[in-house]
Amino acid sequence: MQKKVHRLVMAAFVGPCPDGMEVCHNDGNPANNYVGNLRYDTHQANYADMFIHNTHGMATKTHCRNNHEFSPGNTLIHNRKNGRTQRSCRSCWAAKSYINRHPEMKPSFQALADSYFEKYGKENHV
Ligand SMILES: [Zn+2]
Repeated sequence: MQKKVHRLVMAAFVGPCPDGMEVCHNDGNPANNYVGNLRYDTHQANYADMFIHNTHGMATKTHCRNNHEFSPGNTLIHNRKNGRTQRSCRSCWAAKSYINRHPEMKPSFQALADSYFEKYGKENHV
């Protein structure tokens, strides 16, 4: 297994990694391997960090699966029954509903969604 730079930095400046601990980046930036940015902590703390720094999964999503940016004009916020909110891409949603009415356009989904994005992506409000 390849050693990560942050592990080498910590081993050199701080000491060996204690059992059950891992190297965490205080600023959440894995490329910042300055020793002052690193600490040994538990996996749970490291995982919690990811949410704080928005480097985990959904939270980092800035684009939909078809690569449209979640800009203010292109983001639909749904309130779900469980009290959480979910974002979806307004351009893709518009393209999907268009295709529901015009199934023959299905092969052009991406182009259609892209042209909606041309419009919505520049708007500031939904
Ligand atoms: Zn989209």
